Amino acid sequence: MYEFTQKLLHESEGKCTQDELPACAAACPLHLDGRGLCEKVAETDFTGGRKLVEAACVFPRLVARYCEAPCAQACLRKDFGGGIQMPGLEVACLTHGAPPKPPRFKTRLKKLAVAVLGDGIFSLAAAAELVKRGYPVTLYGSGAHPLEALADYAVVLDTEVDALLKGGLTFVPNQCGDAPFPLEEEGFKEAGFHAAIVPEGGDGMPKVQGSLGESLVKGIFVGGGTSSLIKKLGEARTCAITVDRYVQGVSLGEGREKEAPFETTLRVNTKSVKVETPIPLDEGAGESPGEKCVAEARRCLNCTCLQCVPGCAYLQFYDKEPKKLIREIFNNLSVAMGLRTANTMINSCALCGQCAVVCPNGLDVGALCHLARENMVEVDKMPARAHSFALQDMAYSNSENYFLVRHQPGWEKSDWAYFPGCMLGASAPELLEKSYGDLMGRLEGGIGLILGCCGVMLDWAGRPQEYQEALAKLQTAWEELGRPTVITACPTCYHTLGEKTPMAVRGIWEFLENHPPGIPGKGQSLVIHDACGARKMPLVHQAIRALVEGWGYHIEEKEMSQDKSSCCGFGGLSGFANPSLGEASAKLAAAQGDQPVLAYCINCRDRINLGGGQARHLLEYIYGDAQEATADFSQRRYNRRHINEKLRRTLWEEDVEEQTIPYRLIMDEGIRSAMQERMVLESDVYDVLDRYRETGDCVLDAQGIRSTSGRFENVTFWVRFTEEGDGAYRIHGVYTHRMKTALL
Ligand code: SF4
Ligand code: SF4
Ligand code: SF4
Repeated sequence: MYEFTQKLLHESEGKCTQDELPACAAACPLHLDGRGLCEKVAETDFTGGRKLVEAACVFPRLVARYCEAPCAQACLRKDFGGGIQMPGLEVACLTHGAPPKPPRFKTRLKKLAVAVLGDGIFSLAAAAELVKRGYPVTLYGSGAHPLEALADYAVVLDTEVDALLKGGLTFVPNQCGDAPFPLEEEGFKEAGFHAAIVPEGGDGMPKVQGSLGESLVKGIFVGGGTSSLIKKLGEARTCAITVDRYVQGVSLGEGREKEAPFETTLRVNTKSVKVETPIPLDEGAGESPGEKCVAEARRCLNCTCLQCVPGCAYLQFYDKEPKKLIREIFNNLSVAMGLRTANTMINSCALCGQCAVVCPNGLDVGALCHLARENMVEVDKMPARAHSFALQDMAYSNSENYFLVRHQPGWEKSDWAYFPGCMLGASAPELLEKSYGDLMGRLEGGIGLILGCCGVMLDWAGRPQEYQEALAKLQTAWEELGRPTVITACPTCYHTLGEKTPMAVRGIWEFLENHPPGIPGKGQSLVIHDACGARKMPLVHQAIRALVEGWGYHIEEKEMSQDKSSCCGFGGLSGFANPSLGEASAKLAAAQGDQPVLAYCINCRDRINLGGGQARHLLEYIYGDAQEATADFSQRRYNRRHINEKLRRTLWEEDVEEQTIPYRLIMDEGIRSAMQERMVLESDVYDVLDRYRETGDCVLDAQGIRSTSGRFENVTFWVRFTEEGDGAYRIHGVYTHRMKTALL
């Protein structure tokens, strides 16, 4: 078995790029949060927007006015009308947003002084970045004032430079000609500095040696050799950070891979984005402040990935970025003592594989949840509670109550075997009976019948050993029949048996071609809900579609179909571990528009109907509607045993005693749905009342209602009832718990 190792965690985390910067911020040399800025402006929160601009830039007004806006070139909006005009939004925020509280620069300075040489914007910005980080900086310039050589920008730099001069900046004027100290380590040290920054390309200046501003001279850092204003500001920041690390004696390069502009790996689904032309940002009379900027900001696509979320009720339910979610799962595995708070989260995933298909990087959250389940079950750290009901139900399917292996009546051999799966017999036994009868009439060579469960639920529960045992039981049955070709009515069985056993497996849909449908299409539209079990089986998708079109239906193809189909909530035992999520999954699967839905998995049909949709199973289109549009747990249990007995009696003429109901239960809908919610079966109620009838143990309350209990398979069931005159029992309530109790 694989282990969910730290290496796997890191590899998986690396696949989720949701927390990468959007294209605008990645392309900005200052990594200004363009997405956040658009969000703030779109909400007319100019003060919030201003905070973002001020946080990113030491000279915000300069940037807003003169930046060349590489962000607009990278912006995803570019191909849909034009990139967002970020400088205009920045101007609006600086104009309409409240200014930050002074001081802008730190007043308590570190003891390590740094020298900066040069007149240009690179040197001034590098000095400002260092002052911002608390360094006392001496700026050597050729003029009488720092802005003398920057006259074009003076109007947008004056207050910032004043603040710098009142903060940690000392300006040394009139430094024409030679540098104020020899440009070598001893030189700046003797002048009392711990490092120096110089502009690139100046006479006698050291040459830049790397992307972090290093030069051949230890302690002297270089930058600003570009003609772009915003890049100069970016390089000034880079040099300042390098100086900061240098004087602190820490690694210059570690963790700085994404400091320069880069191409983001964030993937955004732009399929349904419509073209919107940029808003001219000149303000007109009578407009509310920033009105046009607000409209421009609303053109922003708010770039995020999260492509795995819209089709997945699980990710919606937990509302966490996938990267965080898988880390929590990993942490849950590593808990040595204390609470494993992510158990339910691990057990709630449908393991359906949709995320791996829709994620641009193929992150398979389900595979990690599955592995986590296996790892925890193996070391006995996963409480069985989440899956116990489903696994007991599965065990029932593989017990003598349902499990059956027979050659076709009148045959001694089977070229074929029909394996409808455990759920068709449970939810729609009449479809099982009719389809088997039909196949017997149409196939040569004898078609045997195998009733049982493929065991996939054990796999979902993280129990590979028991899963193998269930498969082995089935394989023995198949061998008993002479290794026939298996025809299944369940896409999950089709996948499971085809992948995990040597059986040759075919889907019943392959045998329905030319079969006249009971409900002809006549051009009516319908939606096909593809089963998770067939996610990686395009041939199954095509076969179902060809069949249904042949019946005269028009198929409305939804975006989330075929390999992207959403799970109905049965997969991975999700709905058992987390019933609220199960409900949400059913609703999501049911939300396919107004057209009727065709499902080719009976669980999908049931759950879509539970979720408020109108789904029919493929076989219902041929053999007519099943009696129930969805069957509850009790009905399913009853149906399995009943169909087993009925087929043995009618087809193989076996002497089978008919199921008799010992006495009548009177239950209203409220009690039935509470039982369904608590996963209590009608047969559990009978077991408890049988015990009461034997022992008479009960408690009588003031209203005359009796309470009695019985403990079966580690669960204690309580039934509140009154006896009715005709031997029937009226049920007033049913409860369960795992604690042992006794009536004293
Ligand atoms: S306008 Fe310039 S500073 Fe502003 S986000 Fe774009 S690149 Fe960055
Ligand atoms: S659409 Fe918005 S978030 Fe996306 S790149 Fe453009 S400005 Fe940034
Ligand atoms: S699809 Fe989901 S898992 Fe994949 S990168 Fe996007 S957010 Fe992350």
